[in-house]
Amino acid sequence: MTTTRILVIEDEERIRQFLQRGLTYENYRVDVAADGPTGLALARENSPDLVILDWMLPGMDGLEVCRRLRSAGAMPILMLTAKDSVSDRVQGLDAGADDYLVKPFSFDELLARLRALLRRATPTQPEVLRFADLTLDTGTRQAFRAERAVELTAKEYELLELFMRHPRQVLTREVIYDRVWGYDFGGESNIIEVYVRYLRQKTEANGASRLLHTVRGVGYVLREE
Ligand code: CA
Repeated sequence: MTTTRILVIEDEERIRQFLQRGLTYENYRVDVAADGPTGLALARENSPDLVILDWMLPGMDGLEVCRRLRSAGAMPILMLTAKDSVSDRVQGLDAGADDYLVKPFSFDELLARLRALLRRATPTQPEVLRFADLTLDTGTRQAFRAERAVELTAKEYELLELFMRHPRQVLTREVIYDRVWGYDFGGESNIIEVYVRYLRQKTEANGASRLLHTVRGVGYVLREE
């Protein structure tokens, strides 16, 4: 297994260190640069698997760096931006960014975006997972309950995908933590309960039957009544 290499180009030291620490802890190999030219040089040297790029950089701005990275390679680029208007997003997409994260962001949100971008970048064949009248397209990441589209956040999607890949199998809380959150939240966290509740609300809209069931004291299972 090769280690995924991430290049962070961010002039703000506090954020740069926050990203370096957090990503290293998640077992990524991390290179950091405080400006565009240094970042471009590192990208040429190290061929990163993904680049996290700040929009507002002194000297050469993030958009220009993005254009040059894009002409140099096909790695996914996640832009960090304080800007959140539609025209800014369009500009960034034109420059070749694959996704955005608006500051301030949480580390979990960042990780979810990274994983999604890296997954998209690796040539795994998209599938359509089906259980009862629930379908999940792993290519477009769209979910449907019968004909009705179910809008999911990144984490909700990951959790539902895990259940859809293990139908009728009881998944323990530990397995769910490991697979969806990826690190130890501590036994007291109720984050799984919260996300299962979100998924139930979304999949059971309009009186649809329950598919996600609680197995008391153990975990959860995807099954029909
Ligand atoms: Ca900045």
